Amino acid sequence: DELILGADIGGTHFRMGLCDASGKLLAHQVLPTATLASAQEGFTKLADILDPTKKAKSFVVGVPGVVDYRESKAIFAPNLPQNFIPELSGEKIAKLLGREVLLVNDADLAAIGEAHFGAGRTKESMSYVTISTGIGAAVTVDKKLIRTRYSIAELGHSFIDASDALANGRGSVEYLASGTALARTAKEAGLSLTNQQLVVAAQAGEPNALLIVKEMAHNVGVALANMVHLFSIESLVLGGGVILSGDFIFNLVEESFQELKPSYLEVEVAKAELGDDAALRGCAAAIAAFTSPSG
Ligand code: BGC
Repeated sequence: DELILGADIGGTHFRMGLCDASGKLLAHQVLPTATLASAQEGFTKLADILDPTKKAKSFVVGVPGVVDYRESKAIFAPNLPQNFIPELSGEKIAKLLGREVLLVNDADLAAIGEAHFGAGRTKESMSYVTISTGIGAAVTVDKKLIRTRYSIAELGHSFIDASDALANGRGSVEYLASGTALARTAKEAGLSLTNQQLVVAAQAGEPNALLIVKEMAHNVGVALANMVHLFSIESLVLGGGVILSGDFIFNLVEESFQELKPSYLEVEVAKAELGDDAALRGCAAAIAAFTSPSG
């Protein structure tokens, strides 16, 4: 059976895995992104562990940024060490690892995974939204990814505060609603807590923590409502560390979303069923989608 090597590169975790053609994840490995001097170091280290005898002929790389699909290149990835970006080219990685390479936006890849095997599998239209170090989104219809020359639906870089909008910065969804935003606001309020500790404190009713978490979750709810206004999808699937950490934030997000969503549409909101594995599980289906004439 054919094996596929996959990667899901994030601002925090650098994950790689080995899948079979049916999308089953056979093994995976994770390194903290901050410990890597280059993307190349991560690719070679984990490929040697996962597939030392080069059984996998293809390598699907999920990148946390905008992908130019025509050129097979990452062109913008604000949460990665910036020296990684020129390394994220299909051609360069293929040379490095001696495998065929498909470069895919991380949210696009996870959306393919969830559409085939997860929370979106019974839905005609779906948007996958990841709330992690950054915020990303993707749209599928009949399990097919919607894309242009580029990966689309850069929700994180769209604006929700017009009075404080700055290109690639303040006023954006990512600035106001990501894991990074949560950590920054807590720090500004003098709370020296990790995001996890902050959520625990909020849940226990600590007023400052609760205010910060509620505001962040509300911002996510606003962004999700905008997503549905734009794409009229029938299913929203939420993933990423901030959402998968527990129900507390998820429930607050869902509350704000329900207040703001277009009232005339039925939309189901669910957590990513495949959790952290969504992108790696999407690798096999991504190859099929990107190589078929209609995909
Ligand atoms: C990037 C998106 C990515 C998201 C999640 C954003 O900063 O621009 O392309 O999907 O982070 O990693």
